[in-house]
Amino acid sequence: MVTAPSTLSPSKASTFTQCPRRYRYTAIEGLVEPPTPATVTGTIVHAALEHLFVEHPRGTRGRAQLEATTATALATAIDEGEVEAAGIAPHQLDALGTKVRAIGEGYLKLEDPNDPVAVATELFVDTHLAHTHLRGIVDRLDLRRDGTFAIVDYKTGRTPGPAYEKKAFEAMRIYAMLLEPLLPAPVSVLRLYYLSSSTILEEESSPARNGAVRRRTEALWDAIERSCAADAFPPRPGPLCRFCHFAAHCPGDPPSTRAGMDPAP
Ligand code: SF4
Repeated sequence: MVTAPSTLSPSKASTFTQCPRRYRYTAIEGLVEPPTPATVTGTIVHAALEHLFVEHPRGTRGRAQLEATTATALATAIDEGEVEAAGIAPHQLDALGTKVRAIGEGYLKLEDPNDPVAVATELFVDTHLAHTHLRGIVDRLDLRRDGTFAIVDYKTGRTPGPAYEKKAFEAMRIYAMLLEPLLPAPVSVLRLYYLSSSTILEEESSPARNGAVRRRTEALWDAIERSCAADAFPPRPGPLCRFCHFAAHCPGDPPSTRAGMDPAP
């Protein structure tokens, strides 16, 4: 038997669903997966967009402002050692800069940053659920013209194929459920911004759906508690083993190919 963690996030819920063994390594044993070129790219782009919205009032946001916040976010990631920790060598910094600027251009093709009424960015949400605390960070919360809200999640990886589109919204459905008691009006739409391909995927949201999401998330937590009680976290090898830091030590016979500069899906 192992002790169940005291918190659950949408990303950890996804990890448990995809591979219980990887969940054990990270959520139970507390092993930290080091940054990768894909994750550090995502961190820089998220920080650049957050600062674009926080530092520049609506009506003053444009390409020059995004380039400036991107340069600052890149410099911060370098100064704080995150870029080096991700295995990006000094001679690859220009390529990283080109990449994050190109993703910023991809964002500007999606929308005029002066259009959305962003009421929060990088919003931390937390609620009690079953025997745990469910928590997460929402990239952006927009107020819509009809008084309802939209949740926006930025993605720097590949756009999922049609077979995986519905699955891609799972974390956002949990965010909508978390936000429901905190907002004066419902969340009516979930938006995934795939910045590299300038693609938006949308799904409608409603309080009725949140009830089902809550029940599903509680069932998932029950499954985690049962796994902890039996210390049963079987490896589930699959395509995501390419992006798993524990592949070299995993008893699940994962595929040996590791990811390079490719973004995680
Ligand atoms: S290598 Fe694959 S099977 Fe092993 S823990 Fe990682 S994701 Fe799971």
